[in-house]
Amino acid sequence: MAAPSSPSSIRYCIDPDWAPYESLINGQHIGLSRQYLTLIEKNSELTFTLIPTESWQQTLDYIQANKCDLIPMLNSTTNRKNFLDFTKVLFRAPNALYGHYNQPLVGHLANINQQSVAVVTGYRLHRYLLEYHPKINIVEVENEAQGLTKVQNKEIDFYLGSFHGANKYIKDNALHNLRIVGISELEDKLRIGVGKSLSHIIPTLNQAISQITIAEHAQVFSYLKDINTTQVKDYSMAIKSASAFIAVIICLLFGYWRSVNNASILEAKNKALELAHQQLDEKNKQLADLAIRDSLTRLYNRGHLSECIQQQIKLKERYNKNACLIILDIDDFKNINDQFGHKVGDDVLQHFAKQLTECARSVDIVSRWGGEEFVILCPETNIDEANVIAKRFQQCLVETSSDALPCVTCSIGIAPLRESKSADQWFIAADNAMYQAKELGKDTVFIVENA
Ligand code: GH3
Ligand code: MG
Ligand code: MG
Repeated sequence: MAAPSSPSSIRYCIDPDWAPYESLINGQHIGLSRQYLTLIEKNSELTFTLIPTESWQQTLDYIQANKCDLIPMLNSTTNRKNFLDFTKVLFRAPNALYGHYNQPLVGHLANINQQSVAVVTGYRLHRYLLEYHPKINIVEVENEAQGLTKVQNKEIDFYLGSFHGANKYIKDNALHNLRIVGISELEDKLRIGVGKSLSHIIPTLNQAISQITIAEHAQVFSYLKDINTTQVKDYSMAIKSASAFIAVIICLLFGYWRSVNNASILEAKNKALELAHQQLDEKNKQLADLAIRDSLTRLYNRGHLSECIQQQIKLKERYNKNACLIILDIDDFKNINDQFGHKVGDDVLQHFAKQLTECARSVDIVSRWGGEEFVILCPETNIDEANVIAKRFQQCLVETSSDALPCVTCSIGIAPLRESKSADQWFIAADNAMYQAKELGKDTVFIVENA
């Protein structure tokens, strides 16, 4: 039987919201399917007339109600085969899963559990999810725009849809918070679907499809190139990341600057503190020194000498150490004051102290007891050694006398430290010896053998 002749113009319906595959703009059909229909018109005697619809669902209703004869670009499904026959594949494209940028990557649909996925009502993907991914919480939307917008607004976790279609919508509407988070294993194999009443034109259509050259396919595909290079960039995220990065750098630099600054401040403070400590130590030493010295002569004072005497008594008790006290009293000093004045008297006392210090040994404690009386404590010193010191000093007084000062002599008493004697007893013995020297005519040394 001969095939019925092709109708002069075939009525067709499209998905009005499926750019770039096909869409209705101001009543005009544009997109991939329009370009393929044009190529088929060129390769056959067929012509096509658009019957506009308002939704994909209406297109499906129209084809089933015989209000149109052909749908130029759709997937073949078992259900659709009930009212459509299909040509060979015109165009293949992936389906992708879109999510908010802060969603972790999903990869495959199988990894989604209880989360919500939007799909367009009537799309093959809807039935596919119901059948193969029952754990997914499916949310039906009218079109890709609605699905993507709901994901952008975080009303729904993911949108599952055509790769080229979703990318174009994201680009056109600047939905930069969206990104591809997974790929569907279900690939779009888009064909022409023809109503059962016109199924006889399928061979003609297949013939025309076969005649489409690779260059012509490439031409059609190039229509997508702008869309495919869409970069689903999240500029706000980039700005946030850059801001966070800059903030971290600023914090690090500030922290570094502050630590360096703090370190230098701390170092300066430490140096100042160290200097203050040194000055304080010096002052303390000076104070301590002042506390144990006589202000006029700078010799040790009576208090310090007393402590040293006590120390020697302990050493005597414990180790039977020898020690001698030498008491020196300037002879007729009153006359110096009377003759030359108190100032000269002071100078004489200072000079006397200097001579005494130079003549004594470094271990001896040279002190001013008061007035014109001086005491030398000689540790580890016996009577003979103390006598040598006394005699040497008498000689020193003469040899190192100052031309500017009147010469003086002194009476010297020496007392060794005896066992079981107190400081007072020891001092009194030495003092008595000194008075004995006075009695003997002054400018002499008297030694108490048994103090
Ligand atoms: P003697 O030989 O018996 O020790 O007679 P002396 O004059 O040295 O003793 P005296 O005790 O009679 O007089 C001591 C004098 O020393 C009296 C006092 O004014 C004087 N003198 C005491 N301390 C100081 C002082 O710090 N500076 C001056 N310039 N004179 C002092
Ligand atoms: Mg005196
Ligand atoms: Mg005197």
